[in-house]
Amino acid sequence: MNLDSSPIAAIATAPGRGGIGVVRASGKNLRALAEVLFNGTELKPRHATYIPFTQADGTVIDQGIAIYFKAPHSYTGEDVIELQGHGGPIVLQMLLQRVLEAGAEQGLRLAEPGEFTRRAYLNDKLDLAQAEAVADLIDASTEAAAKSASASLSGAFSQTIHALVERVTHLRMLVEATLDFPEEEIDFLEKSDARGQLKGIVEALDQVFKQASQGALLREGLNVVLVGQPNVGKSSLLNALAGAEVAIVTPIAGTTRDKVSETIQIEGIPLNIIDTAGIRGHDEAVDVVERIGIERTWGEVGKADVILHLLDADHGPTRHDEAIVANFPQGVPVLRIWNKIDLSGHKPSVDEMPDATHIYLSANEKTGIDLLRAELLRIAGWQQTGESLYLARERHLIALRNASRHLDYAGQHAAQTDQSLDLFAEELRLAQVQLSTITGEFSSDDLLGVIFSRFCIGK
Ligand code: GDP
Ligand code: ZN
Repeated sequence: MNLDSSPIAAIATAPGRGGIGVVRASGKNLRALAEVLFNGTELKPRHATYIPFTQADGTVIDQGIAIYFKAPHSYTGEDVIELQGHGGPIVLQMLLQRVLEAGAEQGLRLAEPGEFTRRAYLNDKLDLAQAEAVADLIDASTEAAAKSASASLSGAFSQTIHALVERVTHLRMLVEATLDFPEEEIDFLEKSDARGQLKGIVEALDQVFKQASQGALLREGLNVVLVGQPNVGKSSLLNALAGAEVAIVTPIAGTTRDKVSETIQIEGIPLNIIDTAGIRGHDEAVDVVERIGIERTWGEVGKADVILHLLDADHGPTRHDEAIVANFPQGVPVLRIWNKIDLSGHKPSVDEMPDATHIYLSANEKTGIDLLRAELLRIAGWQQTGESLYLARERHLIALRNASRHLDYAGQHAAQTDQSLDLFAEELRLAQVQLSTITGEFSSDDLLGVIFSRFCIGK
């Protein structure tokens, strides 16, 4: 990766055709570049100027809007030039080439993925959680996810974390001040109500963790895998859940050979549902293609958050179903779905049994589908609260969990009365470090590399 501080440029809009497309450049000083690009026409900062974009020899590539953002008043905190032209792949490519050529003398190069946002972070325009929210907002697959990402981007999540860090720091200062007066250590815990303060912080952290893990659901969604004998109605159930014809439904056993996946949303939570090739038992596949399908099925099952095991309510389980169940990975929740109740005469219902939760429904008649949806939400751990959610990432949850662990240890030290204040203080410090990794005050280059490399180029 090339991450020096030379000026960078990239097409900022999505590939493909669109009404407009944007080429963007950022650098410490882009005056010389602007000079060349616009033939000496001086752009007023943050004003839209309608101007021809020309080649070095004066041929016009496009006519469009140029905007010059003077440092530090830009996305990256550097000088930024935006060229808004027509959104065609060729015209934008020509525009980008022209910009790169015009800036060659200043060392202008193509931006790495996420490099604009990385610069925004390095120049304190955004903290790390906000930078991540930029990517999450772009990637959001549901409206609820977009809302939470936008809240994080505006700093709501970061502020909550800062507030926690401040409370921890305050308590830590108190403890450390006391460390210099050993004869007062015991008194201190009582007088300053250190334990009460710690309890308050732990409660606040719990609350943030809840909001963050609910938000993480909006981001990650749930991997749901449909398994069952050929012809029990897996494709039909996928269609019933998705509300559209996405999988091939046929009355011939063994039709769904390739996995078909569909992302649907229930109350804003994305569910990635995978319809697998019917499992018949490893030795019973009639041909190689089917055998491959079956192996793949087990691969999908291994990655599931929830397994929907479909059975025919009319015909009951077969001996293959026993083999299927025996192969299920440990610890993954299973819903046993009895389909085709229109034929068997069962009523739509949910039955909590020791082995699994059983649901009776009909994919064709679409009865009992709402029961399944509710059950999926329950498994996802979705609780509808009025609280705003933070579209947290796994690393945020880990940091929150680690911080919480250190606060626990701190509490244990505070519970003893002698010789433990320094350990108390140390655990508070560790909790604080964990929390600060979320907003990026303590962050390694490796972490930054991982985060920003997942952005698209131009962002
Ligand atoms: P898959 O092989 O498990 O994917 O099964 P399909 O979804 O392709 O369905 C196999 C056959 O069962 C098709 O003819 C469906 O119309 C039928 N089927 C699916 N669900 C129901 C149901 O709830 N009731 C009835 N009567 N037939 C169903
Ligand atoms: Zn199918």
